[in-house]
Amino acid sequence: MKKKQFKAESKRLLDLMINSIYTNKEIFLRELISNASDAIDKLYYLSLTDRKVKLKKDDFKIKVELDKENRTLTITDNGIGMDKDELEKNLGTIAESGSLLFKTENEHKKDIDVIGQFGVGFYSAFMVAEQVSVTSKKYGSEEANLWISDGADGYTIEKTDYDNFGTKIVLNLKEDTDTDNYSCYLDEHHIDTIIKTYSNYITYPIVMNMTRNILKEGTENEYEETHEEEILNSMVPIWKKNKKDVKDEDYNAFYKDTYHDYEDPTRVITYNVEGKCSYKSLLFVPSHAPYDMYNKDYKKGLALYSNGVLIMEKCEELLPDYFGFIKGLVDSEDISLNISREMLQQDHQVKLIAQSLEKKIKKELETMLKDDREKYENFFKDFGMQLKFGVYNDFGANKELLKDLIMFYSSNDKKLTTLKEYISRMKKDQDKIYYACGETVDKIDLLPQVESIKDKGYEILYLTEYVDEFAVQMLMDYDDKKFVNICSENVDLDTEEEKEELENKNKESKDMFELMKNSLNEEVKEVKYTNKLKNHPVCLTTKGNVSIEMEKVINSMPTGEKINSEKVLEINENHPIVKKLEKLYKEDKEELEKYTKVLYAQARLIEGLSIENPTEVTNLICDIMS
Ligand code: ADP
Repeated sequence: MKKKQFKAESKRLLDLMINSIYTNKEIFLRELISNASDAIDKLYYLSLTDRKVKLKKDDFKIKVELDKENRTLTITDNGIGMDKDELEKNLGTIAESGSLLFKTENEHKKDIDVIGQFGVGFYSAFMVAEQVSVTSKKYGSEEANLWISDGADGYTIEKTDYDNFGTKIVLNLKEDTDTDNYSCYLDEHHIDTIIKTYSNYITYPIVMNMTRNILKEGTENEYEETHEEEILNSMVPIWKKNKKDVKDEDYNAFYKDTYHDYEDPTRVITYNVEGKCSYKSLLFVPSHAPYDMYNKDYKKGLALYSNGVLIMEKCEELLPDYFGFIKGLVDSEDISLNISREMLQQDHQVKLIAQSLEKKIKKELETMLKDDREKYENFFKDFGMQLKFGVYNDFGANKELLKDLIMFYSSNDKKLTTLKEYISRMKKDQDKIYYACGETVDKIDLLPQVESIKDKGYEILYLTEYVDEFAVQMLMDYDDKKFVNICSENVDLDTEEEKEELENKNKESKDMFELMKNSLNEEVKEVKYTNKLKNHPVCLTTKGNVSIEMEKVINSMPTGEKINSEKVLEINENHPIVKKLEKLYKEDKEELEKYTKVLYAQARLIEGLSIENPTEVTNLICDIMS
């Protein structure tokens, strides 16, 4: 029979599995059992929702058989099964996520991580088997098919006879080598241990014939060997167990296996509610963002069970976007098995659950922040952006809920701080929350405006993420203290005398400023002196609601939208350049225009804005120099 070829990406994964030096090869069993369980889930679900399917929960099982003579390990399930097309499609190509990954991570060492990090599913069988045969018959169909592959050079598929529905997978184990022992997978006690380690919570019985030495009846020390089918797994789903009976390691193992993460979660949340809508939930805060978190295909959601039966793998309605990083599940008897996707959105029970979960998650995050600062900061570095988006989105509808969970860098120590903490450190007379925006903490720290405000003893929040300022503007105030961008005109830290003095000075030079402004072709709304700067000659501030950072963010968006902030060129009244400008205004207005253009270009550069005509500016500088 002609061999069919695997799809290119599958072939690579297959190669990897065949030549695997991964030490944890036993996970192949977990992967195959988990597939079997998923297939049974599908049929069991049908039996509950389709009257024609007459099957009871007790009818289902996963069977493991070992044959030492023929070196085979067989896993049989009576789940939904696959028809010919599905065999081709499901076993001839691997999942998207896997293939994406292999485009970048090809080196041998990294490959090992890949196996550990991601569920590689069916193909992991090739880590231990030289040949894999899959017999499958779809439930309700007459036809069974046999798929056979001995690795990278393809597979065959043909009709076969098979009495039962479901799937039988036979692994012909590899021969032992100096470094690898495959015979251990023929040892029932070893297999028993592997199943108890990885698959204990599978809700269907995993059975195997176990050899036991049993005391012969009527004797005191004569034993006989029996072979009886035993259930190896506990079958109680982990979330239905009493919390005190479950070890942390068990939750962690469940998390890692289910969500294909290689690290323990940073927090496990168990939450059971009795009442109008009763449910059990088991949630996890991951310790790091998955690689596809900010990919548009990333889907948030929790698995939804109705009394132990999986209805849906990802129910989006259970999680708001800003908590979209949470993984986990909800199991409720009050949710109808027959609920459809469309009905979910309207469903009152689902809404109630979502609301109470939201409160619980918030509380847990707050506790984490209070009790384990370091953990929270690490969490925040990966997921904080989502929380800040949450503040901003929906016109700020959720800002009250989220405002105590967000953090910004502080000018004090360049570390993350909450708004509450900032307020608690405010100076007695301070009635505003000062912030500044920029690409990095260090760049903000070098802004001319920052220096003088820090000198006066005020703390400044450093906003480095592009969503930050949008979130802050949406919040408007915290604890009745308004947020003020120190690069806007609204910073008012002067005494009355200082203000008056500056005002007078600006009035005196009004005509000069008018000329300067005109020479900049209306690019700025105003030119004026400032007393805010210590050492720097100039800075840019803005009037109105659009700050320079917002201008940068919006203008860089792919929507093509363009806005301009209303800029003010401020000149340090104490800088020696002032004398020069005033002299030029009297003696050489043309030269003053050149100076103005150069000063404005400097101010733009400091703010991280580009210069429209760099050639003109460099020529001007040379001109002035010579
Ligand atoms: P994953 O389980 O992550 O989707 P796998 O490579 O393990 O990836 O399996 C691919 C697909 O093959 C599964 O999604 C499922 O549709 C099908 N499959 C695998 N094992 C079985 C089985 N025992 N019964 C029915 N379908 C199966």
